[in-house]
Amino acid sequence: MPIQGLQGKDFFIDMYIDHDPSTGIKDAFCGDKTYNGHKGTDFTLRSFKTMDSGIYVHAIADGVVLAASDGEFDRNTDWLKTGMGNFILILHEGRYRTFYGHLMKNSSKVHLGDSVKKGQVLAKVGSSGYSKGPHLHLEIYDILLMDKLVDPFAGPCQVNNSSLWEYQPIYDTASYPIEDGFTPYIPRLDSLKMRWFVSDTIYANKDTVACHWILMHGLRKQDIVKTEWLDRNGKIKMQYSDTVKENEWFTYHWNYVLMPVRPGMYLVRCFVNDKLVAIRNCYIKIYEEEQ
Ligand SMILES: [Zn+2]
Repeated sequence: MPIQGLQGKDFFIDMYIDHDPSTGIKDAFCGDKTYNGHKGTDFTLRSFKTMDSGIYVHAIADGVVLAASDGEFDRNTDWLKTGMGNFILILHEGRYRTFYGHLMKNSSKVHLGDSVKKGQVLAKVGSSGYSKGPHLHLEIYDILLMDKLVDPFAGPCQVNNSSLWEYQPIYDTASYPIEDGFTPYIPRLDSLKMRWFVSDTIYANKDTVACHWILMHGLRKQDIVKTEWLDRNGKIKMQYSDTVKENEWFTYHWNYVLMPVRPGMYLVRCFVNDKLVAIRNCYIKIYEEEQ
C-alpha cells in the first residue's frame, strides 16, 4: 500500500485509471470511478486537516530513486495549476517505474540515487500541482512493455487483467458518510476541504449562519439528500432536501439556517434516500465577551 492508514477511513481510492480511449470513462472494474484520461490511481484524504497531520507515502517495492522534486505549494483546492507538483519517481529492479505525485511541500525524505525498501517512507501526501485536494496520485509503468502505463488493479475491464498487488484493495462502491459538521458561515468547497472554523457551537449574535455539511462517499444520480433540524422537543424546525445531479464518489453537501436562530440545542439529522447517515447536535448560543 503506497499510503499510510486504512482504506474507507483514512483514505479513499476514488479515481482509478481510465481505460476508455474515447471521451467516455471506464475503470478496471467497468465502473465510473475515474475521469477522462486519468492515468493513475488516486488515494484521497478526507481533508487538509488530515493532510496536516502528516500522512506518509510509502515505496510500494524495493527500488532506486530516479527523480525527487520538492518545494512546490501544496494546498491547491482546484485544478488551476498543471503538473504533478512535488513528485518522486522510483525504478524497481529494471522492470517497473512508479510515480508518486502531488506530495506535500518539503516532505521528501529521499534523493536522486537513493536505494529504497518496500514500505519505506518517501514523503507525505499533499495537494501540489494539478490537484483539487490532498491525495496521492500513483502511476506505474512497465519498462519491458516499452514503458507502458499499467493498471495495478485486476478487473473485468482491464486488458491484461492481472493484479500487481499482493493484496488488492477492494473496489469500494458503497454509499456512506465520511464526515460531517457545522460551520458558522456559508462555506465554499475550498473552505470545507480546509475545515475552517468547524464547530458544533454557533453564536446567534455573532455568526452569520449555522451550516450543516456532510462529506459522502458514493452518492448516485437521483439520490435524495435530506437534512432536518429539530428543536429540543423533537419538533422539525427546518428541513432541506436536494437531488443529486451526477454520480459523485467523494462529495460535499451542505445547507444552512440564517442567524439569528433561537438559542438552544438542535438535533440535525441527515438522510440519503430516507436512510439516516448522520446525526449531530448543534448548540446555538449567545456570545458574551469575557469579563
Ligand atoms: Zn490522479
